[in-house]
Amino acid sequence: MKGNDAHELVSQQIITDVLIDSIGDGAITTDEHGNVTRINPVAVKLLGYPAEEVIGRWFPELFTSFDENGVQIPLIDRPITRAFVSGQILSEHVIYRHKNGSLVRLAITISPIMVGDVTAGCIQIFRDIGAEYEIDKMKSDFISLASHQLRTPLSAIKTYAHMLLDGYMGKMTKAQTKSLKTIVAAANRMNDTVSTLLNISRIENGSVISERKVLALPKLFDAIIEEHQLSSSEKSINLIVNYPPAHVKLISDEVILKEIIGNLVSNAIKYTPEGGTVKLSAEVKANQLIIIVEDTGVGIPSESHSNVFSKFFRAENVIRQETSGTGLGLYLVKGLINELDGEVWFESEEDKGTTFYLSLPLTVELSSALKTKAKPKVKNVTAK
Ligand code: ADP
Repeated sequence: MKGNDAHELVSQQIITDVLIDSIGDGAITTDEHGNVTRINPVAVKLLGYPAEEVIGRWFPELFTSFDENGVQIPLIDRPITRAFVSGQILSEHVIYRHKNGSLVRLAITISPIMVGDVTAGCIQIFRDIGAEYEIDKMKSDFISLASHQLRTPLSAIKTYAHMLLDGYMGKMTKAQTKSLKTIVAAANRMNDTVSTLLNISRIENGSVISERKVLALPKLFDAIIEEHQLSSSEKSINLIVNYPPAHVKLISDEVILKEIIGNLVSNAIKYTPEGGTVKLSAEVKANQLIIIVEDTGVGIPSESHSNVFSKFFRAENVIRQETSGTGLGLYLVKGLINELDGEVWFESEEDKGTTFYLSLPLTVELSSALKTKAKPKVKNVTAK
């Protein structure tokens, strides 16, 4: 090797070392056999092993990986093995054992280093998500507890208010009837919130059951529009519907789909000022049914776009206007559309409007379309 080349190589090496050391996340590189070649200070801190105890050791043996139940993951299923075998970049959550014996929950991206067709090693970048996981678990536990605890007293309130209204306990005066109607309306709103919470906890514990059949889409669209007629006319919002082409046969779950579209239409009305327009339409593109909910409303600020489907998220512009909301509707939409093997995304510009898109596969084998997901037996997805 010429002097210049050797010099070049050494300086490249130094640049790589500095780069890896200065990454704010943990970083470990391995050679083509999976032996550790570098570990940066953040990784040393996260896993507890000083560099001298790690360099040259076989990664899979040094850092054992566990599943959610604390069971060790076999070598063949580990992300590092899969990245080596497939040559693909993988991003996953993993649990490694810290040197002190505790388990560390990490979000990890493993990138194989490819030289031509050959995997010459890999680089793993990871960050600690233990705190995020705990917070998320607390939110889920809270939602589950709140929804189950609220359900029983709420149905008692609704039942007795209806009995009073219907005169089972004597004739009500005008003033009493008016008050009772307010109680029933408030209980119905609360019931919708509890239903959303219950559905979220079902999604989170995997107990949503979908019953798929060929859907009458125009009828479904009509039912959704009818449910939102009152709220839109109260704000003089022009509610437009364009039906899907007549030949389209979608095999899906009617109740779940109604809940999803209903949520989007309800948001579109809620976040569109008086006199605006909300349009529900559908089209077919590449074997997908695309359902579109479009509004001329307040829009979603661009800096919030990445958070829109997060639990409890509400954008600054709507919080300022103090419109009521829980920030759970879109989280639920995302979870439910996943259950139907579909996708949701949106485009939005502040003060111009928002368009939400749903895509659902049209060509589904009947056998899999009619499958009933294995776990649990609850099905109560009511519109928002
Ligand atoms: P909620 O409406 O109860 O606040 P969602 O989960 O349905 O909760 O929506 C989350 C947030 O996304 C809303 O608070 C709002 O900031 C934003 N958003 C949703 N839909 C729209 C829309 N059509 N136009 C403008 N902002 C929207």
